[in-house]
Order: sequence, then C-alpha cells, then structure tokens
Amino acid sequence: MKLLIMGPPGVGKGTQAKQIKAYFDIVHLSTGDILRSEIEAQSKIGIESKIYMNAGKLVPDDVLLSIVKECITKPNCAKGYLLDGFPRTIHQAEGFDKIMVNLDHTLDAAISLTANQDELVNRLVKRGYDYGRSDDTPEIIRNRQNIYWEQTSPILDFYRSKGLLKDVDGLGEIEEITNRILKVL
Ligand code: AMP
Repeated sequence: MKLLIMGPPGVGKGTQAKQIKAYFDIVHLSTGDILRSEIEAQSKIGIESKIYMNAGKLVPDDVLLSIVKECITKPNCAKGYLLDGFPRTIHQAEGFDKIMVNLDHTLDAAISLTANQDELVNRLVKRGYDYGRSDDTPEIIRNRQNIYWEQTSPILDFYRSKGLLKDVDGLGEIEEITNRILKVL
C-alpha cells in the first residue's frame, strides 16, 4: 500500500498516520522528521536544510525528491509506505510521479483530511492554552491554515485529476476518522 496523507495544521494528521501505518504495517515517512534527523546528524543535507527550515521556508524541491527517492527504495519500504508532509509543491508532486514510474511503483491514494476552519482554530487555541503556548493566537493559527490551503490546493487538484484524491472528514473521534479513511481505501 503506497499512500500520501495531507491535511491542515491541527487536523490530526500525525495521529491518523500512526493508525494507518500500524493497520497496513507500512513505513511512515514524515519529511519534516527526516530533515530534523539530518540536522541532528549534521549531514550535508541537514546543514543545507537548516537554513531554510529556520527561516520557515520550504527546503528546495531537489533535496526533497532525492530524500524521498532514497527512502522509498529501501528494503523496509517493500511492503508500502505513507508519505506525510510531502509533496508540498507541484514540482515535488510531478517529480515524485516520475520517480514512481521509474521504480515501477503505483500510488494507491492521496488522503486529504478536511475540517471546518473555525473548528480547527478553536481546537488549536484550546491546545495552545492547555500547553501554555502564547504564539497559538487565533490570528496566527488562521494564517497557518490559509497558507496550507493556498499552497496545497494545487496539489490536491493534481491528485484529484488522477482520480487518486480521497477527501476524508477529519473531525470526530480518532477511531471514527481512521475507519473513514480505511473505508475510502
Ligand atoms: P513539518 O514537520 O512537516 O512541518 O516540516 C518542517 C519543515 O521542514 C518545513 O517548514 C520545511 O522547512 C521542511 N519541509 C518538510 N517537508 C518538506 C517538503 N516536502 N518540502 C519542502 N520543505 C519541507
């Protein structure tokens, strides 16, 4: 099973990724986590990526494409994988498509977790309050949501046009949402 998961900040993407990974016994590849471990290891990629990440910018597409290509060709990915946080740009989506064709891999689905924006903002404000985070103000949160939809909507369209996009309502109990995902797969 080869999947992508996308969703706005606060929708519970990480939680669902863990559930799906366990259900299908596949590898969960979070490009954010991979880049953070490269930084920790002070590798060439890590040193280069850190500058972009610290500035809140996207790491160049070529770097991401080579990371993903290397990861999905590893033996532990033979059963399948779930990409999280990738692709973030159309160039990445197109590049990933070419990599998949070359490797003779087929993407099964792109899961898009959706939620009402006001609901998500309320949830994140509460989380920020509970954990004492002063930067989780409604304005900042709403801004992050807007950026997500602006940047991601072309990618959603890319997968929709291929018939691979699965919109799943991301509001509700964890198990309920997992069941919705499994149902559309
Ligand atoms: P995340 O943990 O997914 O929020 O990612 C943290 C940071 O890593 C992002 O702000 C980017 O700087 C970088 N990053 C992660 N995934 C990608 C990607 N697919 N393309 C470019 N940059 C990425």
